[in-house]
Amino acid sequence: MPDRQTTAPIPSVRTALITGSANWGLAFPEDVGMAGVRVLARDLAFDTPYGRTENWKLLEFDASLTAEGRTKHVLCMYSHGNPRDHIDHSCHRRAFSVLMQSGVRRVLSCSTIGAVNKAIQPGDMVINADIVELTQTPYSLLEGRQRFDCSGKQLVCPQCAALLAQTAKRHWPASRRIHGVELGLVAAHSYGPRLTSPAEAMAFRSMGADVINHSIAPEATLSREIGACFTPCAFVTAGFNDYMDRNRGQLLQDDVMPSLSVIASRVALETVARVPDDESCICHKLKSPQPAERYDRF
Ligand SMILES: [Zn+2]
Repeated sequence: MPDRQTTAPIPSVRTALITGSANWGLAFPEDVGMAGVRVLARDLAFDTPYGRTENWKLLEFDASLTAEGRTKHVLCMYSHGNPRDHIDHSCHRRAFSVLMQSGVRRVLSCSTIGAVNKAIQPGDMVINADIVELTQTPYSLLEGRQRFDCSGKQLVCPQCAALLAQTAKRHWPASRRIHGVELGLVAAHSYGPRLTSPAEAMAFRSMGADVINHSIAPEATLSREIGACFTPCAFVTAGFNDYMDRNRGQLLQDDVMPSLSVIASRVALETVARVPDDESCICHKLKSPQPAERYDRF
């Protein structure tokens, strides 16, 4: 079978959209049918120092949708599906190598989550403020080893998160809640693909987690390492009781997915369109160059 992926030069863009389980079952963004969003190219492949990365799309947002009133180009890739036929957690390093070369300054990442905080229910949107991932990421991109200091503070951009919540309020079902970044909720990262066991869920809860996410820490850490803002767009598909019920083999509440995946996808697209190019947040300063003697003298 011929390779249908086209190896392309990496385009210069400021914004990236990473899709995930929140968009499952959809050709994204084609199936969302949002006016003013065009797929300029799909099935793009890029070469990186860590290998080839595939299944990228280049999107164009009409000037009427954007904060600046100018046409905006956005790189889009499916987080779990790169490659699509097997699990390879190092895919994030290749993906963010592309985003670094592209000059990306804002990253929005979509996923679904499980709640270990009993007040957070299936169908709720959660924009967590902090992350627990005790290995950070084994797939660092930080150039020059100790030439930069990467802060663990403000891993989620408060400004982009506020814009996401504001956008979500226009679309999210009134019967479900939106937990904003100002609540300081914590997401624990678990690589997966196996879903979290009851004991693991309790362990993460004991460590201070409110939700568990299979795709957030590499994205957040690598965003920091390339000097970009990071914002998670996630909704709950399993509650605390779903984790704890050992008599029920299944964890996820399937009926949450179909309606909310289209809504979450729409919210993600609108947010990305409205994220301003100017950077009034401090996220970009949280990767800071270190004095030369730290790496020159040894
Ligand atoms: Zn920011």
